[in-house]
Amino acid sequence: MMRTSLRQFHVAAVVVAATTALVSAQTKIPPPPNNYTPAQDVELGRKAAADARQQLPIMHDDAVSSYIDDIGKRLVAAIPEDLRHPEFRYTFEPVNVREINAFALPGGPMFVNRGMIEAAHTEGEVAGVMAHELSHVALRHGTAQASKATKYEVGQVAGAVLGAIIGGGWGQVISQGTQFGLGAAFLRFSREYEKQADIEGVQIMARAGYDPRDMANMFRTIEKQGGSGGPQWLSDHPNPGNRVEYITQEAQALRVTNPIGDSRAFSQIQAHLRQLPKAPTTEEATKTAGRRTGGSTGSAGRVPGGRIEPPASSYRTYEEGNLFRVSVPENWRELEGGTSSVTFAPEGAYGQANGQNVFTHGVEFGVGRNETHDLQTATQELLSSLAQGNPNLSRPSGFDRINLGDRRGLRTTLSNQSEATGGAETIQVMTTQLRDGNLFYAIAVAPRGDFSSYRGVFDRIASSLQFTDR
Ligand SMILES: [Zn+2]
Repeated sequence: MMRTSLRQFHVAAVVVAATTALVSAQTKIPPPPNNYTPAQDVELGRKAAADARQQLPIMHDDAVSSYIDDIGKRLVAAIPEDLRHPEFRYTFEPVNVREINAFALPGGPMFVNRGMIEAAHTEGEVAGVMAHELSHVALRHGTAQASKATKYEVGQVAGAVLGAIIGGGWGQVISQGTQFGLGAAFLRFSREYEKQADIEGVQIMARAGYDPRDMANMFRTIEKQGGSGGPQWLSDHPNPGNRVEYITQEAQALRVTNPIGDSRAFSQIQAHLRQLPKAPTTEEATKTAGRRTGGSTGSAGRVPGGRIEPPASSYRTYEEGNLFRVSVPENWRELEGGTSSVTFAPEGAYGQANGQNVFTHGVEFGVGRNETHDLQTATQELLSSLAQGNPNLSRPSGFDRINLGDRRGLRTTLSNQSEATGGAETIQVMTTQLRDGNLFYAIAVAPRGDFSSYRGVFDRIASSLQFTDR
């Protein structure tokens, strides 16, 4: 059983476009280039929403549902003409968790945490976060982000796409439960998209009758929240810098039409929520959800074992935005390795031991920091860190020079004695360098007795590898 995920994944820094509009007119936000059709947005969002509904405790409380639905509908009516897509269906569902968060999926499904409504000081603050989320959807940021990765393969829909859309925190929560489909969530919205959603959002707010400065107020409220119930939303929606300042500036250029003066509905809903049992944390809630949906979805604490399904002869393509794409057997699941790696393994071949993700058959891809910019040295460092988590791992007897994704690479084969299963296993490590100099690795694992029958699969996976880093 192989333990990996030792190194920090290197995520390419996003270049923030310095667009400081000093004009006192409404800023026009053009939707970014997108290779997907609006219908594909709808389809992706529909699937992800179904997963989200399984994993998250949706509140079935008429008062809360209709409250956020009213705000949502008012905001949707204020989306500018050129950003309307007739296919999109905007829906608003409250989630019974404590954290201040909300997320929206392509094509329209939005989920709003109860904790967000509880933390807000005004209805405008709730509307501010919702308007920001709505703007991501209307500007089609999820698939625009995915388009950057699938520039040469239009229409390719992979798990990573959904991970990108959901963003860090949520992607992890959801993929922990489902273990597939929602992707490893390395991607989140770029700061450029964040600024677009802020600006578009304040314009929508003003047209819907809200004071657009309430968006900035809510961001301040979110920032003030510390601890475990803290600014999860901010990790999915990073501050592009000067957020409050440019929101305030944009707000000054806007006139609020039909202002909503009455906030009685807001005080009523807060009073109603105070009467309900305290909302659980997302972690507590998703654990319960995991139990409810049976043991087949979650694998926490379970050491792999039992019959392993043979690799399917048909393959599916996995895309990691601006990094790589690879084909893996269709019946291998995608397992999240924090932010540093992604593993593909068949059912029954993965689980957890001592709090670490482990797998007995499968392949893991990841990126390690390379300070030396020398492939051989970086590979040796990777093997040393693998040896720390796997004390019975053999030392490399040598390296083969190979071609990995059209780049110069190294390959070595090691043996290991699994601590958990006691069995002997064979491990093949392949490495190459990314354009930024960092180390890219692929680790293929199978029990020694099975390795020869898996070799063809590993070779096919390796030869499908293509790099998309720039
Ligand atoms: Zn955002």
